[in-house]
Amino acid sequence: MIFIMFIFMILNFTYNFRDYGIKNIDNKAVVLAKTIEHSLTNQMNNEVINKRELFLKQLEELPNINKIWLNRHQKVIDLYGKGLDSETISDEIDKRVLSTGIEEKHLNESLFSNSTYRITIPYKATSNGAIDCMRCHTNAKEGDTLGAISIVFPIDDVKHTGITTIANTTVIALILIVAIGFLINYLISPFLILFDSIKKVMSKAQNGDYSKRIKESKNKEAQDVSVWINVLLQKLQTALDNIDSKISIFLSSHESKIKDPLINAENLVDRISLIYKFRKTIEHDEKLADIYIRLASVIKSNLDISNINILEANTKTGEVSYVYIEKEPYCNIENFPCRADKTNEIVDSSQFDNICSTCKLRDSNYFCIPYSISNDLDLIISVYPQESSQIPLLREKMHYIKDYVEASKTVIVSYKLMEILKENAITDSLTKLYNRKHLEDQMPKITAQANRALMSFGVLMLDIDHFKMVNDTYGHDVGDTAIKIVANTLKENTRNSDIIVRFGGEEFVVLLYNCKQESLFKICEKIRIAFSEQEIPAGYETITKTVSIGASMFPQDNKDLNKCIKYSDTALYEAKNTGRNKTIIYTKDLNKKETN
Ligand code: GH3
Ligand code: MG
Ligand code: MG
Repeated sequence: MIFIMFIFMILNFTYNFRDYGIKNIDNKAVVLAKTIEHSLTNQMNNEVINKRELFLKQLEELPNINKIWLNRHQKVIDLYGKGLDSETISDEIDKRVLSTGIEEKHLNESLFSNSTYRITIPYKATSNGAIDCMRCHTNAKEGDTLGAISIVFPIDDVKHTGITTIANTTVIALILIVAIGFLINYLISPFLILFDSIKKVMSKAQNGDYSKRIKESKNKEAQDVSVWINVLLQKLQTALDNIDSKISIFLSSHESKIKDPLINAENLVDRISLIYKFRKTIEHDEKLADIYIRLASVIKSNLDISNINILEANTKTGEVSYVYIEKEPYCNIENFPCRADKTNEIVDSSQFDNICSTCKLRDSNYFCIPYSISNDLDLIISVYPQESSQIPLLREKMHYIKDYVEASKTVIVSYKLMEILKENAITDSLTKLYNRKHLEDQMPKITAQANRALMSFGVLMLDIDHFKMVNDTYGHDVGDTAIKIVANTLKENTRNSDIIVRFGGEEFVVLLYNCKQESLFKICEKIRIAFSEQEIPAGYETITKTVSIGASMFPQDNKDLNKCIKYSDTALYEAKNTGRNKTIIYTKDLNKKETN
């Protein structure tokens, strides 16, 4: 580009120089022609026109003039004759100028031989000058061509000067261009090197490699830029390393396929924030069952799985129970131990056909992962993918399950502890039956149930006969055993829906759910007889004891459950008073008796 511009510049310069030279000669020729014209006119007036040949010869001797000759027009010849030999028309140019009256210029240029410039100027008749031409040239009109003068100039001097000037200018311009080139290169090259280095470093950073640095530069501005970028990259790399090492400890490890630490850091923060949100949410869940529903929901959405069950395993007793069921319980946990819990390994149906004997699903896909929640609690997440091809993907995404189970751990444990505390608060430690507080808590619920569903409850009050004697004779431990046997007898002879309460020392209350009035006595007697047949170990011997039972019907006897308990106590009192080891069903007469 610069070279082409340089050529154009030289050509332009050459053209202008040549043009200037020619214009210069032109001016000179016009001045000379006018001077000759005036001189010839004066010679005519002074009648020395015949001396004009000498005059012209003298002019030709002037420097930088090769030749001068004149031509007469026919009108001058007609008046004054042919004149000198040299004044007859010598060539075509003279002829044309005389006939057209238009000046002609001809350049005879050659680079290596002599060059000339010929100009032929017409002389025209005029009455406006110092001398009126028409005075002598009577046959001419204003503007007629009377003659022409041709002058030939040598232009070698101009040509040589031009060539020398152009050559010098070319050399100077070339030197200038080279110098400018060097200067530009010196000023710009550090920035080009910097730009190239930035390009390489940034393309690596684009692919996740932030370890590359920009080369140092000798130029101060470029050096400043490279230092800023390098410091920024260093900060970024350190921050990303810190995020990776400090934050990732909160998450389960996994091999990331993404090589870019920035994207990894973003993913880590995303995972942590989602887990944090999950954790905050389950902390406010009211029941443990809600936590398991939420846990199942996040696992399903993260793993894109529709079927999942969650089981709790008691590590001390080996008991396994379902805590979340998506569709149906697929494990035969009553008959077989849980393989995942027992082996503490993932049970993967894709690795071995029917790998788990507990699973009722034959030739189906399952993937069970055990997680330890506390010393005595494991959680087993059973995932049931549609296709076995989904299992490798599950393995890859297992860290999601682990993250959420880990986040749930402390909340599950605290809910478990709360459950134990609640259980303890309403349970009698000796018999594991409900205590009186639970009965009081349940009273509004039972009353509502009885009213809504027109449900009847049998209300039993039961007391061991002459129990003090057992304590006194065999000691408190035997007394405790007797109390436990009463509790077991009650459990064995009632239904799960019935509520058995240790009401006081050796007094029990039983609420028989959905009990018919006519069955009440039979049930009481069944309990009484069953206990009387129990052998109570008392040191080296066994003893038998009896109970007395008082019973009433709720709400038939009274709409207030508390009152019904009182009525049962009245009936019990009657049983005690009338010989013990018997059942008395409450009747209104008993109240009268009591008052008497
Ligand atoms: P009765 O036939 O009239 O009921 O006579 P009783 O001796 O059983 O009299 P009562 O029901 O008043 O006796 C209650 C006794 O039960 C008093 C107390 O020593 C004893 N007792 C209460 N709670 C416990 C307990 O947790 N363990 C033991 N071993 N004894 C208890
Ligand atoms: Mg008692
Ligand atoms: Mg008693």
